[in-house]
Amino acid sequence: MLAPSSARLTIDLDALAHNYAVLKDQAGGAEMAPVLKSDGYGLGAGPLGRRLWAEGARAFFVARLSEGEALRTALGSERPAVIHVLDGFTAGTGPRLAAAGLTPVVTSLPQIDAAQAFAAQAGGALAIGLHVDTGMNRQGLTPDEARAVAQSPDRLQGLAVELIMSHLGSATEPAHPRSAAQLALFRPVRALFPQARASLSASAGIFLGADYRFDMVRPGVSLYGGGPEERPDSRLKAVARLEAPVLDIRNIAAGAMVGYGSGVVVDRPTRVAIVQAGYADGIIRMAKGEGRAWFAGELRRMLIVTMDLIAVDIGQAKAQPGDMVELLGPNALLDDLAAVAGSVAHECLVRLSDRAERIYLGSV
Ligand SMILES: *Cc1c(COP(=O)(O)O)cnc(C)c1O
Repeated sequence: MLAPSSARLTIDLDALAHNYAVLKDQAGGAEMAPVLKSDGYGLGAGPLGRRLWAEGARAFFVARLSEGEALRTALGSERPAVIHVLDGFTAGTGPRLAAAGLTPVVTSLPQIDAAQAFAAQAGGALAIGLHVDTGMNRQGLTPDEARAVAQSPDRLQGLAVELIMSHLGSATEPAHPRSAAQLALFRPVRALFPQARASLSASAGIFLGADYRFDMVRPGVSLYGGGPEERPDSRLKAVARLEAPVLDIRNIAAGAMVGYGSGVVVDRPTRVAIVQAGYADGIIRMAKGEGRAWFAGELRRMLIVTMDLIAVDIGQAKAQPGDMVELLGPNALLDDLAAVAGSVAHECLVRLSDRAERIYLGSV
C-alpha cells in the first residue's frame, strides 16, 4: 500500500451520535438544538446537521445568515428544521431570512424595529427569537429593554417571539457565581414571554443542573468532543481525528537547537519524526515543546510546529516514513491541545483546515 502523502482529517459521525446521546441524557427533557456555526466548528455543518437530524435534532443554531442558508440547503426540504441565526435581524437581511425560512434571534431594539418593519411590509407574522444579555456583555437586549418590549405590545406587532434566550459566560467553571447571577436575571425576563420557549445553556451549562436547562439547550463543542469544563471528559468521544504521515526520521545531537529562532534545545541525543502537517493544517503553533502527539502507543512530545512540518520526539519507537502520527483525536485529546495552545477546544476545531484530506465515518 502506498503511504498517504498528506494529512488526513477523519470526522466520526458515530462519535457525534454518541456525544449527542450523552448530552441529551444530561439535558433531561430539554430539547437539543445543536450549534453548527462556523461550518459546524469547521467539521462540516451539512454532514453534521444531517446526522444530528437522524439522531432526533429538529432545531439548530448558526451565527451568520449565510451559514443558515447553507445549512438549509444541506438539510434539504426533507429535513424542515428550525434554524436560528444568532446575528439576528441585520440591515437588509429580511428577504434572505424569509426565503431560507430562518429564524433571526434579535439582539437589540433597533433589530426589533427593523424586523417589525419588514414583517409589516411582508404581511403575516415573522417568527423571531429574543436574545437577552444577563451578564456576558456581548450580545442581547438588557433585561430592562426586554421588559419594556414585553410591556409595549405594539413593539412586537407582526412578530411572533418563539424563543427567549441568554448565554452564560462562566459555565465552564461550575463554582463560578456568575452562572447563578445570570440565572437569577434570566428567570423574570423569561416569565415576561410565557408563550416563548426558553434557552440558557450551551454545552457547559447543561452540566450545571436542572435549573439551567429550561426548554431548549444549545450544545456545540461537547457534541464535537470538547469537555464541558475545558478538560477531557471520558464520557465524550473525539469526533475529529487529524493524522499525518512521517516524512523523515532524524537523529539530533544533544545540545542542538530544533526549528526557528531560539527553537527548542534538546538536552540528549533525540530521535525525531518529521511529520507532514503543521499549523496550516490547524495544529496551533504552541508554547515550545508542550504539545503531545500519539505515536506507537504513546503520547510523545511535539518539539516544534511549523507551517508544514511538525517534529515529534519518538524516543526508541520503531518508525519509518509513511507511518501515521495522530496529532488530534481519541488519544491526542482536543482539550489537552487547547490547554497547551492557550486556547479553547472551539478554536482548535475551527482551525482545522481544508488542506488535510477529509473522510467522514458513519452514516449521515
Ligand atoms: C457558540 C454558542 C453556543 C455553543 O457553545 P458551546 O460552548 O460550543 O457549547 C451556544 N449559544 C451561543 C449563543 C453561542 O454563541
